Amino acid sequence: MPYNHITLDKMEECIFCKIVRKEVGSFKIYEDEDYYAFLDLFPLAPAQTLVIPKKHIDSYIFNVDDEQISEIMGVAKKVAKILEKGMKTNWVSMAVEGLAVNHLHVKLYPYFEYKDRFVKYKTYFGMVGDKATDEELSGWHQKIVASISGK
Ligand SMILES: [Zn+2]
Repeated sequence: MPYNHITLDKMEECIFCKIVRKEVGSFKIYEDEDYYAFLDLFPLAPAQTLVIPKKHIDSYIFNVDDEQISEIMGVAKKVAKILEKGMKTNWVSMAVEGLAVNHLHVKLYPYFEYKDRFVKYKTYFGMVGDKATDEELSGWHQKIVASISGK
């Protein structure tokens, strides 16, 4: 049986569309005309970040046209470089499982020292982690924003 999204498919109900329209707050990491990146509230890694198109597109990447895939990968690369600098790591992993919210999203997972990888964060590749605290989110956000502005 094909996978069915639990969330509503209607654009006006889509949480990511609401974030793009600023109806729901988010910790913004990057924004341009067509894309938006923000901290995942349910991270499996510190400063796990979601990259989404501003336009609502269904989340199964292998139904997305090649041009769009190439474009979002380019944006993901830019955002990964921001995360490398801001979170002081030299490795960011990526997954595009698309399961929790039916709005195309690339998940970026900053990696840290090997010993810490599976201690707090059990696995990097899953759907959702435990909800991050406001202190964690704003701490990561401040680091990244400070590195963007060159402080
Ligand atoms: Zn949407």
